[in-house]
Amino acid sequence: MSVFSIHSNVKKCFLLGLFVAFGYHTGKISGVYEWSQIMKKILADRTNFIDASGIRKVFALAASLKDPVNFSIGQPDFDVPQQLKDEAIKAIKAGQNKYSQTEGDRLLQQKIAEHVRDELGWKNPSILVTSGVSGALLLAFMTLVNPGDEVIIPDPYFVIYKHVINMLGGKCVFIDTYPDFKLPLEKVSHAVTDRTKMIILNSPCNPTGAVYSHRQIKALAEIAAEKDILVLTDEIYEKFCYDGDCPSIAHYYDKALLMRGFSKAYAMTGWRLGFIAAHEALTNIVEQMTKIQQYTFVCAPTPFQKAAVAALDYDVSDFVNAYRKKRDLIYEGLKDKFELIKPAGAFYAFVKAPSQPATLFVEKAIANNLLIIPGSVFSEKDTHFRISYATSDDKIQQGIEILRSLA
Ligand code: PMP
Repeated sequence: MSVFSIHSNVKKCFLLGLFVAFGYHTGKISGVYEWSQIMKKILADRTNFIDASGIRKVFALAASLKDPVNFSIGQPDFDVPQQLKDEAIKAIKAGQNKYSQTEGDRLLQQKIAEHVRDELGWKNPSILVTSGVSGALLLAFMTLVNPGDEVIIPDPYFVIYKHVINMLGGKCVFIDTYPDFKLPLEKVSHAVTDRTKMIILNSPCNPTGAVYSHRQIKALAEIAAEKDILVLTDEIYEKFCYDGDCPSIAHYYDKALLMRGFSKAYAMTGWRLGFIAAHEALTNIVEQMTKIQQYTFVCAPTPFQKAAVAALDYDVSDFVNAYRKKRDLIYEGLKDKFELIKPAGAFYAFVKAPSQPATLFVEKAIANNLLIIPGSVFSEKDTHFRISYATSDDKIQQGIEILRSLA
């Protein structure tokens, strides 16, 4: 049995024991079965459509291991640049601690709009500042997905898409991109039906590190344009591009909801900042998302929005260069022993497990003090595992050695 399941089973038994003892003692609850029936009534049905994040489970496990090599979580190992921390502190000290406008701090909105105008040529883009790209995704799906709507998603995919779409009663239509993780255009084209609500793109991709080429993106835009299908493009890793540029579909297609964030590029995962930008033709969608934000997140954290204005002008090329070296380290260290495609962006490698199913291999790795994530968390298949190499070069080297010893 794995470290992982021992840990969670001990916890479960302990809680169960406490519960049963309490139930018999008070005489109020006669047994576990009865309680589970009560819970069934209490919980909303939609909780059945989601499973606790497999990444978070491994992340939590890291706290109980002694100095593990942690390849599990997708956040940079560098800290927020001092200049940007100072901006946030300045805003807090200046008393800018109240709600901002729901759609975002005016200055930040303007600055994002300027960047989008310069890059994409959209004259009057609609901008909504959100609580991370996660917030933007939730608002977009709530705004757009009706029960029964189909959403086309290349597989492997970032975890949030599937669970939130399922929770809303939508239907995920997965497009298998194994083994090279390029966009299989023909498969996408065949998957389009009258119920297709949107296509999701995520380039650079979490978990594969794949970056789609101009040619692929342009061809996808043509497929979407044929039936006026919306494309949601999650570009949270756009700065982490190692072998050329990261083309955005927004260059080729106006019906694109562009999502970008601050979490990864500036190591601000805890600041909860992201944004959505859309061509003026899609203003109504952004307005509807803003309405939902009014009743949910209300606004993104105000002092951090102030600091984000400076972040948009901050040069992160040193970080990106350091991460390119980490990418090379991991690829060169594993390529002769494992089947893996050289990642071109983000900070992940998606590696075929040497023994199948991949989940069992992951358990073996965890028992050897190496935290990796089973590919099944991001995919309908259980053949690969994800490495996040956003850690020190030293740890990367240690992780490579452990993996090589298990291959
Ligand atoms: N999209 C992708 C592809 C991600 O990997 C993540 C974070 N892991 C997010 C969105 C959400 O990031 P955040 O909410 O921190 O902006």
